[in-house]
Amino acid sequence: MTDPCHPQSGPKVLSLKQALDCILAHVAPVTGDEQILLKDCPGRVLHQNIYSPVDIPQDSQSSMDGYAFNSADLKTDGVSRLTIAGISWAGRPYTGTLKTGECVRIFTGALIPDKADSVVIQENVLTRAKAVEIPSRTRVLDNIRLRGDELRQGALVLKKGKRLGPADIGVLASLGIADIKVRRKPRVAFFSTGDELVPLDRQIQAGQIYDSNRYTLYGLLDAIGIEALDLGTVGDQDNAIAEALLEASRISDVVITSGGVSVGEADRVKPVLESIGQIEFWKIAMKPGKPLAFGQIDNAVFFGLPGNPVSVFVTFYQVVRPALLRMMGTTVGKKVLLQARCVSAITKVPGRQEFQRATLEWTEHGEATVLPAGKQQSHNLSTMAASNCFIVLPADSDGAEAGDTVEVEPIDVPFHFN
Ligand code: AMP
Ligand code: MG
Repeated sequence: MTDPCHPQSGPKVLSLKQALDCILAHVAPVTGDEQILLKDCPGRVLHQNIYSPVDIPQDSQSSMDGYAFNSADLKTDGVSRLTIAGISWAGRPYTGTLKTGECVRIFTGALIPDKADSVVIQENVLTRAKAVEIPSRTRVLDNIRLRGDELRQGALVLKKGKRLGPADIGVLASLGIADIKVRRKPRVAFFSTGDELVPLDRQIQAGQIYDSNRYTLYGLLDAIGIEALDLGTVGDQDNAIAEALLEASRISDVVITSGGVSVGEADRVKPVLESIGQIEFWKIAMKPGKPLAFGQIDNAVFFGLPGNPVSVFVTFYQVVRPALLRMMGTTVGKKVLLQARCVSAITKVPGRQEFQRATLEWTEHGEATVLPAGKQQSHNLSTMAASNCFIVLPADSDGAEAGDTVEVEPIDVPFHFN
């Protein structure tokens, strides 16, 4: 079998697809589970199959406000007059049995009385004292939610591995299930590297910058429901980096760093990792984010992201996130990609797959248009913050003209719907 991390032929630089194949072949769902209450479940990954313990609805109910009757009591033509024998409220059923020529006043969600098989909506009848007149065109066997219509007792409702959203949790509650088994959250420890970095509670001196990457990373991790352990900032010294990497690997399933993975003298993460762990590869043909290290330190998976703030966002989104979703025990869904008309020209040099940040909008005629965020340098995080999608340009593309159709990957959608 060929090793996806070391393709037999081709260039040393991996395509994003090759890198993802390598990473997804390496990482496995974390072991361990816990029983938690429904309200703590959003975003968690189900670790059991859920079968319905009951029929849903549990009883046949009216789906409208109106009158319940037996279809055999309607005349084949002309108005049928039925006597109102009582009321069936939601939660307070009518307990009698319908006799010939009777109907029951009924409300949405109320139990269908014995012998009734149809409901006529109140707007379609005339009420006369204690009776209603039902026109001949009334449909019978209508407006009833039959017992078990939605779910049969024993039916598979939710599959192990599903990441739970609001509707899933509502379904569980409708089945009377108050707590469920979910997979343990992967623990991710992360830190920034760079002598120039300063924490937010300190004054900046000439040549220094605030450490923003840890905040971006925290937000990205939090959005997919990861237990994030922020280990702060480390300078560009081998000892300090080695110590921080080892500490991080002891307390987590995944270690993420930013900075120091390029080829300058101050880029110490790669050489340090080579001495204390294993590196799988460290170049991906994507932009931003070409230098990216992936490997292992003891039992922890390691991602060394580039330092530039936009590269951190893009490489996390495109590379780390699918790996984390797999470790969470859920399936990595297909990307949501759209076609849109690009409203300005894009320059690009062939060679690497590019993710250009942009704004996706729809015209009043329903046409999808996309506006690139101007300068695409990878230090410019403000334009990342102002964008809602990536324009995805294949490696061999040399850009686009204004008016060309381009491929667009919305950014928010995968966070909330996978
Ligand atoms: P590096 O990959 O370490 O060469 O860093 C590339 C660029 O990203 C440099 O301009 C760094 O100053 C900047 N950078 C690195 N780490 C951070 C960080 N945590 N927050 C903001 N900028 C950073
Ligand atoms: Mg650096």
